[in-house]
Amino acid sequence: MILAQLPRFHLSILARPSFSLSSSQFNFLNPKPPVTVARTLFSFASKSNLATVEPIPLPVSESSDLDDAPVEISLDKLFIPPETDVSGDDPASLTARILKGSNIVLSKYARDAQVVQADYVKSSVKTEDCPADGLPEFALVGRSNVGKSSLLNSLVRRKRLALTSKKPGKTQCINHFRINDKWYLVDLPGYGYASAPHELKQDWNKFTKDYFLNRSTLVSVFLLVDASIPVKQIDLDYASWLGQNQVPMTMIFTKCDKRKKKKNGGKRPEENIKEFQDLIQGFFETTPPWIMTSSVTNQGRDEILLHMAQLRNYWLKH
Ligand code: GDP
Repeated sequence: MILAQLPRFHLSILARPSFSLSSSQFNFLNPKPPVTVARTLFSFASKSNLATVEPIPLPVSESSDLDDAPVEISLDKLFIPPETDVSGDDPASLTARILKGSNIVLSKYARDAQVVQADYVKSSVKTEDCPADGLPEFALVGRSNVGKSSLLNSLVRRKRLALTSKKPGKTQCINHFRINDKWYLVDLPGYGYASAPHELKQDWNKFTKDYFLNRSTLVSVFLLVDASIPVKQIDLDYASWLGQNQVPMTMIFTKCDKRKKKKNGGKRPEENIKEFQDLIQGFFETTPPWIMTSSVTNQGRDEILLHMAQLRNYWLKH
């Protein structure tokens, strides 16, 4: 049974009211026809499932380091994978099915999550040059310095694998790493380099967008956002573009271990995360999946792998 294999769950439900949205607040901008059924299904949680259960507040984490400011999420902000019915769940059993530090409900497809082998395969400058073996893949993207290399190394438990992507000539490439000979992690160029020449910025914009729109084996983009600093417009723009183009997206909030409040009005990770969610809600029909992570404490590592596993196994079946 799948639930027995899961790493850790938060076990209690908070009694306090949560913030919640009415469905009329969702506004899908500029919709275009879906590329494939699988891509579309993973973009959005099933509304019928959501409608059958009373909204309840849920804690994001039970861990003590977040006790001072727990984040709560309401039922309509959960990511419920396709073929996952929560209508029969009471609040306690539903809570137990949510991945710790995330809004993601586990499905029957969450299995085979471990990474036992990771190999660098190739660096491509065009979508057409990417591996053609049809294996499913997940693309990691985010502002430079967001912690992408650290996360990649933490996911595969290798200290220096992501250094490959940082070698001269490869920072602006689509870098493929094959995992367990079954799927790919793809490291995309970091964006937002203040010093990058204009032409270089334009070019990566063109080829990463082409990759997002035309890579048929791309199961989901993992957009990394630094939760330790205030929301950046460039990250909002990126999320907005993905939403408007119906590219399935999971948000990975990085550096969640950085909890010291700065004197000049700096906010805690969960406050920055909430603000980011509020600002992007208009770009998506329903809330995209999100996970809190830290490459220092390995928070979120197992959760990301389980989420990738359930997306991947569903994708392979359809
Ligand atoms: P990249 O440019 O996105 O690949 O970012 P790196 O992985 O190279 O990380 C940029 C900086 O952030 C480095 O100094 C890392 O040590 C630091 N960093 C990365 N992840 C974390 C994290 O989860 N927590 C903390 N506190 N620092 C991190």
